[in-house]
Amino acid sequence: MAENPLTPPPGYRLRLPGPTEVPEAVRAAMARPMINHRGPEFRAMLEAVEAGIRPVLGTQNPVIFLAGSGTAAMEATLANLLAPGERVLVVIHGQFGERFAEIARALGAAVDTVDFPWGEAPDPAVVAARLREQDYGAVLVTHNESSTGAVADLAALGAAVRGTRALLVTDSVSGLGGLPMRQDEWGVDAVVSASQKALMCPPGLGLVSLSERARARVMRNEAMPRFYFDFRKALAAAEKQETPFTPSVSHVAALHAALGLIETETLPRVLARHRRLADALRAGGAALGLREFTQAALRSATVVVFEVPQGLAGGDIVRLMYQRHAAVIAGARNRLQGRVIRIGVMGGHDEATILTDLLQLESVLRELGHECPAGAGAAAASAFLAGAAAPLARAAE
Ligand SMILES: *Cc1c(COP(=O)(O)O)cnc(C)c1O
Repeated sequence: MAENPLTPPPGYRLRLPGPTEVPEAVRAAMARPMINHRGPEFRAMLEAVEAGIRPVLGTQNPVIFLAGSGTAAMEATLANLLAPGERVLVVIHGQFGERFAEIARALGAAVDTVDFPWGEAPDPAVVAARLREQDYGAVLVTHNESSTGAVADLAALGAAVRGTRALLVTDSVSGLGGLPMRQDEWGVDAVVSASQKALMCPPGLGLVSLSERARARVMRNEAMPRFYFDFRKALAAAEKQETPFTPSVSHVAALHAALGLIETETLPRVLARHRRLADALRAGGAALGLREFTQAALRSATVVVFEVPQGLAGGDIVRLMYQRHAAVIAGARNRLQGRVIRIGVMGGHDEATILTDLLQLESVLRELGHECPAGAGAAAASAFLAGAAAPLARAAE
């Protein structure tokens, strides 16, 4: 390990499901000289960022940018859409669904939950049935459950919510930019996301796009106290390519650069690359004897979650990946602690990233006494990448 704890060791690879590695062009954008946040340069940049993120969201809606992490954007969104005492249905299929419910409760909403086993995707028919039984102001659902790797079928959930008073609000913090999002087509009223996952920026910028229905709800919402994160102010300012208060200028510059990278590669290719690399990692993991945690039909293209083999502790795999290889992967900080390891496939990765992951995982697993054939993971992933294997998971489209 490096002697100076402030300096990552040589060969450091950030392989978390967020924050993710930040490409050079994005880091350089953050280092540019500060500009007037009410001047023409920033206005032009905010306009370009909004234009660039809309296709990623699949929307014509205005987009609000907030200084804060994903959770700040989730809380701000609920504070603007919900009134105290309002009945909401939270669809829970993992840790982040639980967080959504906690935030709604903290804001005084009357929270009902519809719970699915962790690792499964929400069943839209069950959600539709709950919506027939009870009137809800909103349905909250995690798009890409980073704790399990299961993906919610937002098109089907949008259809379930359509025709009811409920707004469909989704946390796509770990999905947006790596999974398809068609907000307008699917009927999603609010998409919440953040900078540090597939959008490959440093943490610190949240974003929210609101449908017309959701914007009307924001404007009518007199009951919920709010000030800094009042979307009435943010929406009015957005019309003038401004933010109500001093924006996080450097984060917006970072997102501007990241969207430039996405535009250059083209969005369809970016999404296909995420899917292909995630499936290659799955194929390689399977060859090492790592079972995927989720068996859901829709699986993440941004995070792969493996079960820890019998007799091993997840924490040991995570620790040795860092100590031996300076690779930072994730375990779990929830009820799956010790039972799963999670590896991000978000942002600007290529085949080499995945092959390296598998070689390093193999060596760590072997050191821990798990038997796996030499080179099997990388070989299986290579074969997959060469087109020798069919896609493992249906694309979330
Ligand atoms: C990372 C993440 C968040 C946001 O977490 P922050 O640490 O507040 O940025 C929310 N939801 C999901 C699904 C996530 O993966």
